[in-house]
Amino acid sequence: MKVMKFGGTSVGSAEQIKKVAKLINDGERNIVVLSAMSGTTNTLVEICDYLYKENVVSAKETINMLQQKYVQTIYDLYSSQDTIDDVDNQIDAVFGLLRYLADYDFTSVDEREILAQGEIMSTILMNAYLKETGVESVLLPTLEYVRTDEDGDPDVDFIEENLNRLIAEAGDAKLFITQGYICKNYLGEIDNLKRGGSDYTASLIGAAVKADEIQIWTDIDGMHSSDPRYVNSTHPVESLSFEEAAELAYFGAKVLHPTCILPAKLNNIPVRILNTMAPEAKGTLIYNFPPHKTVKAVAAKDNITVIKVYSSRMFQAYDFLSQVFEVFEKVKTPIDLIATSEVGVSVTIDNTTYLHEIVDRLMNLGKVTVDEDMVIICVVGDLEWHNIGFEAKVVDAVRDIPVRMISYGGSNYNVSILVRKEDKVKALDNINKALFPAE
Ligand code: ASP
Ligand code: MG
Repeated sequence: MKVMKFGGTSVGSAEQIKKVAKLINDGERNIVVLSAMSGTTNTLVEICDYLYKENVVSAKETINMLQQKYVQTIYDLYSSQDTIDDVDNQIDAVFGLLRYLADYDFTSVDEREILAQGEIMSTILMNAYLKETGVESVLLPTLEYVRTDEDGDPDVDFIEENLNRLIAEAGDAKLFITQGYICKNYLGEIDNLKRGGSDYTASLIGAAVKADEIQIWTDIDGMHSSDPRYVNSTHPVESLSFEEAAELAYFGAKVLHPTCILPAKLNNIPVRILNTMAPEAKGTLIYNFPPHKTVKAVAAKDNITVIKVYSSRMFQAYDFLSQVFEVFEKVKTPIDLIATSEVGVSVTIDNTTYLHEIVDRLMNLGKVTVDEDMVIICVVGDLEWHNIGFEAKVVDAVRDIPVRMISYGGSNYNVSILVRKEDKVKALDNINKALFPAE
């Protein structure tokens, strides 16, 4: 069995839905995980924002606009009037629910119910299209088998038991369609796996059914060696280890959601990233045993703030770092990079919600400086310390650029450097040239 997940742009129009329908009907047993059509979840978030502000008029105008888009898709997608009427009724019921929720006191329970409708609608559209074109498929309602526990983490035993039960009930059906992103929580309320969570759903399903492969279909042919928006000559990376993919995902490669990696890795299920717009392209394969001793890719993460605490009291003081970390722990702000010396420590964060409080507390420990608008450039590959020369190449490539921080040796998989926002493109370009010289 394989799991095939299609992101928002992959199912973003009637034409795309038709393309996906062809790809999933390949004669194999597949579980197809769909995201909401592109733009839908953002629009649902916007509707909720209006409702929190008690601006029901703007919420309803936005609901109407969104429905218009779906009505158009229905007309573009189906050819028989019966299917058009049937799907139109189902989609109309969804929008009826949105309007109903808009009319009453708005709570976070309602919000999560609204956010779930995007995925519900894309599976309605796909399933009806398959039916109209004579392809048998079974709709698996995610809300019946994905549940989170009290910590908000997926309850993997529940998922495994219930998903496999639903599949068994479907007899020898070959094609299953299901929603990404959404779930129920331990209270039985509708909830979700956070923005971009459909990749996570795919991975959880893959683990639950012990799939042969998890395919993440998106709109780019795999993870690229660098960000194609800033660097001209990038190439898709053929294969990555899960660790390398995780570093890239955390450090800004938008292709794969970081949460997707662990369930696949633990169950030794390969993850293949493929392009719906160019299905024949090889894509990127992420698995446990990829080639060693190579640098694979470079990613950049924007909007980084670096905080330095400098104090001669740090010298030989064994509790200085723990006091610094405690400040971040208190405000639940994760640290990305760290560089230390005997008398100072610099750390980076990307969530600045509590920056003021952090600085205020750190001032008890030493002299504090803050630099904003920085970028982490993260070079990923097999950078185990015995592999010589890679870090030198990276540092040499940025010799003309002011570098604020360098971090190497934290894991076997990356070297990260911190530069100013205005130097990002040049740094990416220089590093790309140094690491992947054109053949
Ligand atoms: N539709 C959800 C989002 O836009 C989940 C996903 O696409 O992965 O965040
Ligand atoms: Mg996504």
